[in-house]
Amino acid sequence: MTELLANDLSQIRRALHQIPELALQEFQTHDFLLNEVRHFNQEFLTIHEIPALPTGLLVRVDGSAPKRTLGYRADIDALPVEEETGLEFKSQHKHTMHACGHDLHMTVALGILNHFAEHQPVDNIVFFFQPAEESENGGKLAFEQGVFTDEWNLDEIYALHDTPDYVAGNLACRPGVLFAGTTEVDIKLIGKSGHAGFPHEANDMVVAASNLVVQLQTIVSRNVDPTEGGVFTIGQLQAGHIRNVIAGEAELHGTVRGFSQDMIMLIRKRINEICKGIELAFDCQVEVKMRQGGYLPVVNNPSTTDRFINFMQQNYPDTFQISKPAMTGEDFGYLLSKIPGTMFWLGVGDTSQLHSSTFNPDEKALEPAVRKITAFLEHRMKEEN
Ligand SMILES: [Zn+2]
Ligand SMILES: [Zn+2]
Repeated sequence: MTELLANDLSQIRRALHQIPELALQEFQTHDFLLNEVRHFNQEFLTIHEIPALPTGLLVRVDGSAPKRTLGYRADIDALPVEEETGLEFKSQHKHTMHACGHDLHMTVALGILNHFAEHQPVDNIVFFFQPAEESENGGKLAFEQGVFTDEWNLDEIYALHDTPDYVAGNLACRPGVLFAGTTEVDIKLIGKSGHAGFPHEANDMVVAASNLVVQLQTIVSRNVDPTEGGVFTIGQLQAGHIRNVIAGEAELHGTVRGFSQDMIMLIRKRINEICKGIELAFDCQVEVKMRQGGYLPVVNNPSTTDRFINFMQQNYPDTFQISKPAMTGEDFGYLLSKIPGTMFWLGVGDTSQLHSSTFNPDEKALEPAVRKITAFLEHRMKEEN
């Protein structure tokens, strides 16, 4: 097999787009990837399955004179979204969609991998097709299984995320924090239900929850340093069943975002304190659960990122930009906390936001992405240190 052309990349992407699967259930996707890789030149390849993470896949290309092992990660999971693009190659899986563009991430990785299968790299390079980015912390699970040990030990790691913020095929990056860290928050209020006409004999959790939401909004407006920024969004609030019964329980689900772990810990502390206050004020019980750690901020390593940015600015000055940090979360933050490396953006043109049911990235992004990232990796392999 020779180099994958733009048309081949688009065929691969469309095939993957039709079989989206949720975190840790990516079996069909895994089999598709494996089948593609088996059709590449096998001379320098080693394929490694991960028994404890059966939908994950590692492929190593042995270098001709390796000084180091580079890593390239592509996330493979999709989202519980009903696709509304109307595309002829739209999702065939009910209520599941590649609405975050991980189908493009996998395609770009296959394009780069195929190049190195055909043209033996100087350094070793390991491709990690990672399950469970959207939830379940796939990167952390893999690391904790010890998959990056011995000959799979990575000296550096790279990954991209697509975005409608840039022209298709353009790349963007920044030193330091690229993505926020996150914590998922679940809050349950327990009072006493009763007849709508006898409020004094019940304990209304609609009233308590309404107060709680308003008070929680003061964390970001009054406790967070405005020059640093932070987010606490309650995206889901449920209470009651019918108009004439006082709700005895309420549930709130939200997410915290911040550019440093300190900021996240400050917001978490204030959530706990405000919930204690609501318990006293409304004589109810408040249970707070926060997913320990959540996603760590994605912090780009200074030296790998300087190299990446310099290379892109010198070679592709018209299609590379320095980006702003984003309040989205990415579980690549965990791997970057263990392995030096760089995450960057790939523009996919003007379309709906990531995670939306009409997200329709421009496939013109695929070929330039493969070409530019491959060029960077080859350049990196020529460097001594
Ligand atoms: Zn996503
Ligand atoms: Zn994503």
